[in-house]
Amino acid sequence: MNKTIGIFGGGQLGRMMAQAALPLNIQCCFYEADTHCPAAQLGAVIANQAPDALQQFIASADVFSLEFENTPLADVDQLIQTQTLYPPRQALATAQNRLLEKALFDELAIPVAPYRAVHCEADLEQAVAELGLPLVLKTATGGYDGKGQFVLRERADIQAAWQALGPAQHLVAEAFVDFSRELSIIAVRGQDGELKTWPLAENHHHHGILSHSIVPAPDSAELQLVAQDYICRLLDRLDYVGVLTLELFVTEQGLLANEMAPRVHNSGHWSIEGAICSQFENHIRAVAGLPLGSTAMVAPTVMVNIIGQYPDSAQVLALDGAHLHLYNKTERAGRKLGHITLLPKDSAQLSTLCQKLAIILPEPLALHAEIDIQHGAVE
Ligand code: AMP
Repeated sequence: MNKTIGIFGGGQLGRMMAQAALPLNIQCCFYEADTHCPAAQLGAVIANQAPDALQQFIASADVFSLEFENTPLADVDQLIQTQTLYPPRQALATAQNRLLEKALFDELAIPVAPYRAVHCEADLEQAVAELGLPLVLKTATGGYDGKGQFVLRERADIQAAWQALGPAQHLVAEAFVDFSRELSIIAVRGQDGELKTWPLAENHHHHGILSHSIVPAPDSAELQLVAQDYICRLLDRLDYVGVLTLELFVTEQGLLANEMAPRVHNSGHWSIEGAICSQFENHIRAVAGLPLGSTAMVAPTVMVNIIGQYPDSAQVLALDGAHLHLYNKTERAGRKLGHITLLPKDSAQLSTLCQKLAIILPEPLALHAEIDIQHGAVE
């Protein structure tokens, strides 16, 4: 076997996919605007601005995948005339449009917050009347990391919200969810339909960007079964191949789905060291048509993002139980530059590691030392 996988995008997700592919003697190449992208150290980058670049990319690999859910469908349509893309086009098209995504969740009886499609200001008035306030207005396409969103708190916000996000866009208005925690479940489906799921991650955000994930999410044994059921419905319905992520809210009424990402996910980076087979390796295995690896957890894990500014690498590496991943990006406020995985032996060591790390990181991080991790693997 000596396959090449062509990947739409060449950011850190593509980089970590290629890192997982190398031991399997699988090479990746990347279709990306920036030839100095994080993945460039791992494989060829086909600069996507040249007139014949897409044809060149299509000719340069045996099978294709993506690391970027806003991969243009026009490019995908051209590619799938002659080549195979995993995940399938329908999964990508659905994840690119919140209205299609919610319709799929409804079809599969996966609970979501009450919502309305909004195509004009009158629709928004009606949504406020029917769903009440506060209300979250989101663009149906193109949003990420909380961008393209407006929280309406009073009726007087209707006009400002419409001006901010309308009128050219299709929008969705969602009831504001009073959640206690945000979780994500990641699963992989092979070409033969085999399904495997990693333990739930509990995700903490800072200014709308993931700051850290705790795995397994505390007190999540029952939620795990529910979340697993939801994501498996999605994987089977979409005839999916590869890794899929489902973001969830924990509410008093149970889990509500927020959105899905048809790709490996930041909240799954812990699995490189924390699981027997990582999300990256299993994605590559699925795309290459190989058997999947075990998703069982090796040990409870905390993954901390490095955002905006690099810490001193030596100080991080001096922490016993810390693994450092740097993405070869230049520093910029709000930019994900790398991550640190903590694999503590027990809760006491985790406390110490969190305290030390909170000091080492240049961006102040509310990394609570009292995180109470559970022990024992979740299959
Ligand atoms: P999204 O782009 O849909 O993932 O939303 C980004 C973040 O906004 C989520 O991680 C939540 O913290 C918050 N959020 C999104 N939708 C809602 C909602 N309906 N109610 C309350 N918070 C929300």
